[in-house]
Amino acid sequence: VAGSRPAGDRDIRGCRRGPGAAGGEDVMRAVVAGGAGFLGSHLCERLLADGTEVVCMDSFLTGSPDNVSHLLGRPGFRLVECDVTGFVHVPGEVNLILHLASAASPADYLAYPIETLKVGSLGTLHLLGLAKEKGARFVLASTSEVYGDPLEHPQRETYWGNVNPVGPRSVYDEAKRFAESLTVAYRQTHGVDTGIARIFNTYGPRMRPFDGRAIPTFVRQALRGEPMTVTGDGRQTRSICYVDDTVEGILALAGRDVAGPVNIGNPGELTMTALAETIRDLAGSSSPIEYVARPADDPRVRRPDTTLAARCLGWHAGIDAAEGLRRTIGWFRAELERDGTDGTD
Ligand code: NAD
Repeated sequence: VAGSRPAGDRDIRGCRRGPGAAGGEDVMRAVVAGGAGFLGSHLCERLLADGTEVVCMDSFLTGSPDNVSHLLGRPGFRLVECDVTGFVHVPGEVNLILHLASAASPADYLAYPIETLKVGSLGTLHLLGLAKEKGARFVLASTSEVYGDPLEHPQRETYWGNVNPVGPRSVYDEAKRFAESLTVAYRQTHGVDTGIARIFNTYGPRMRPFDGRAIPTFVRQALRGEPMTVTGDGRQTRSICYVDDTVEGILALAGRDVAGPVNIGNPGELTMTALAETIRDLAGSSSPIEYVARPADDPRVRRPDTTLAARCLGWHAGIDAAEGLRRTIGWFRAELERDGTDGTD
């Protein structure tokens, strides 16, 4: 599954380095497409902390400049409003392109179905073209959704998936499957240095309380003392990964000569009822649990096999659910208090 090439002149981020602005000191310069979203904003922060210059490109479809406002004015950080499905141009040297641009929550991609298909296809095409032009490494943020409702459990990268190509989730799943295929084609045809991360459910600060994903929904409901709405019978499972771990996994892939796809996720598996109960306990809430209708084609199980990530990247998730959820609940509580709201949409 994973291809590799001999390592060249690479730093810990692993990408070929370019000359600094003064022409002497080496600096890394990364483009983070979708950098003003939840996951992208954490990546921008982490890259900057490592001394990498960051061009954050975002159309603000589902993200917001607020997610990176604390980075504005930092040396080496630029925020550019740009829809990557259109013309993409970045002056100067670029060593690394991280493609995170895409609606990601089911509520978002169902609200923006065509945009989601376009960013997975045209957006990926343009960013691969940019990588080819700049000689940059390209990393695609793919997803465990490429496995669909999996018939293999846990999911290894060799599993081809069980996706309904005309179901409601297909706009996201098939966009990512196409994006993976295009990434492989650019590697094989144009020799672009590419990597594919299949990211499993990631959570943490800066998720939007109303993005429709389970964790922000449960946390918001628990903090407001409202019924916690678990879909179906609550026995379906997910494996949740704290954002700091996912960021490290993506950067480990960015820094290695590994093509992937590589699963990036935490193999700890929870039923949805257990997840809701854990959040309720950690939030000190007495919200009741209420079972509501399950969305069409919702996967019954999801758990990454992370053997390949451990072997090729030396990476595994280190933050357990209790710790990650505690941090996330703390952030949501502070946000809701800071806004002076109770989290009402
Ligand atoms: P998000 O919605 O918070 O971030 C996505 C960002 O992409 C937003 O800022 C949005 O405005 C931007 N964007 C969308 N279309 C764009 C376009 N055409 N041009 C430029 N920017 C555009 O979602 P997220 O959870 O941070 O997910 C980021 C990426 O990681 C997505 O590609 C998603 O598919 C992938 N991923 C996330 C998870 C997860 O659990 N968070 C899991 C698997 C994969």
